[in-house]
This record gives sequence, C-alpha cells and structure tokens, in this order.
Amino acid sequence: MNHNHTSQDCLQRFLFDGTDIRGEITTLSSSYLQLLALQNYPAQVACLFGEFLVAASLLSSRLKQTGVITVQAQGNGPISMIMAECTQGKNVRGIVRGDFDNLDGLSTLQELLGQATLAITLEPEGKERYQGVVPLDEENLSKCLEFYFYQSEQLPTRIKLSADAESASGMLIQQLPNSGDRDKSEEDWQTVSSLFETLSSSEQLQLSHNDQLYRLFHEQELRLFEPQSMSFCCSCSRQRTEGALISLGREEVLDISAEQGLVIITCQFCAQEYRFTDRDIDRLFNPPEPLVH
Ligand SMILES: [Zn+2]
Repeated sequence: MNHNHTSQDCLQRFLFDGTDIRGEITTLSSSYLQLLALQNYPAQVACLFGEFLVAASLLSSRLKQTGVITVQAQGNGPISMIMAECTQGKNVRGIVRGDFDNLDGLSTLQELLGQATLAITLEPEGKERYQGVVPLDEENLSKCLEFYFYQSEQLPTRIKLSADAESASGMLIQQLPNSGDRDKSEEDWQTVSSLFETLSSSEQLQLSHNDQLYRLFHEQELRLFEPQSMSFCCSCSRQRTEGALISLGREEVLDISAEQGLVIITCQFCAQEYRFTDRDIDRLFNPPEPLVH
C-alpha cells in the first residue's frame, strides 16, 4: 500500500470561495505509530483509537486560545473507555482501557463499546470548560460526531474518519451560519456534501491532502491553508506528578513508599516514570523554609 508517510502529521483548513462552507483535513502517521508502540492494542481497538485521535485533531480548531479538547467515550462493552485529546498547539495523546482478551469477530462501534456515550470537552485555559454529551449509537464515530454538531451547534457538518495499522486520517466540512442568499447556500451545501460522501476510506489513507481534495472538489474554488504540524506530546511533568502526590496526602504516599521502598508514578499516556525517594517525599510535604535575609 502506498501510504502517505512522507507527508508530516498535520492539520489543514480549507474554504470554498464564495460559499459559507469551511473544512479541515488531517492525517496522523508517526504520532499515531508512536502512541500505538506504547500500548498493545488489538487491531480493531487500534483503528478505533486512530479515529478518536483524528477526531480530536479535527475538533481542535474549535479552540480559539490555549487549551485542550477531549473526545472520550465510555461504555459497558470490551472497551470501557477510549479517549483522545488535542491541544491548541496541536499535540495529541490518548488511551484506551478495557478487556481486550476476547475480541475475535468484534469490530463495530457497538460491539466494541456496548452501550456508550460520547463526550466532547473543551477546556480553554483559565476559562470555564464546556462539555457536550451524545449517545454513541450511530454506526460509526463519524456519524456520532455529525449528530453532536447537529445537536450542540445546529451546524450542518459531515465527517469522515479512517484508520488502519499505519495511519489515521479525517476530513470535516461544515456549513457556517449563512449571511446571504439562503437558496444558494443550501444548493452549495448539497453540492459539496454529496461530493464529500464519495470519499472512500482507502483514498483517505493513501492520498495526500491535496490529492484527496482535488479528487473530490476539482470543480469547486477551494482554498487550502498552510499545514499545522501535529505531534504526539504528553503534558505530564514531574511537577504535575508532585501535585498528584500532594493531593493523595502524606500518609497514603508514605504507605506506598513503605511497601515498595520508593514511589514510582508511571504516566498512563506516555509511560514516563517519575520516581520519588523518601527524601523527595519529605521535601514534598515539608518544603524548606524560604531564606530570610
Ligand atoms: Zn505522560
């Protein structure tokens, strides 16, 4: 297969000139592979995870300032939780939890997640977070997200997400509230969305962004913006881990340390280990007095 590995992981915006329609297209390859290398997900879980990562990437354009957007589902199926997040700076990370021992023959969203809900959370830094929740009961994640946009923003939106073992790709088109001629707007949307529907999964995974857009919209006046590069980057740090230990409380932390001789906190997203000796713990709960001159 001719995967578009050579192109960097990125997100690109596009506009249809003379219409109220905007779009986003994204492909993740090296960041997706880095994330998969840290876990041991069965193929169908990995592909669904790829779709969640791409969804978070497409939705990150809704962050108008520093912050993070999370796309997360929880269900009662073999996958109990699956989530991906993307920061305004285009760093992605994510994780899947569940029992993956008996997944033979299971592949659909419902088979993998059972009865589930999908939550989209926007956390702009220093501002109130906003969360929208929809049932995860459509045939795939793309359709669930289209329903989310329909319900939460009343904006006609089409989304296609695709992933295989090596890359994940997604495209979104959306009709913004129209300022002018309603009939023309409606006609533009019908034209663009029916072309969009012809995009196949293999095209998404094998063609460059330019080629995908040309294939679909070569008769439209389309303006494609510069790519914003995307990468896997975890926001964990020693300082944040210390914060988590402090909130656990001194007793609890000393208990763990007494059992293990050391406290080791491993980041669930990136597997980075943070080690704390008894001396570190002491310092954490008894910070040295500031020097007085
Ligand atoms: Zn981490």
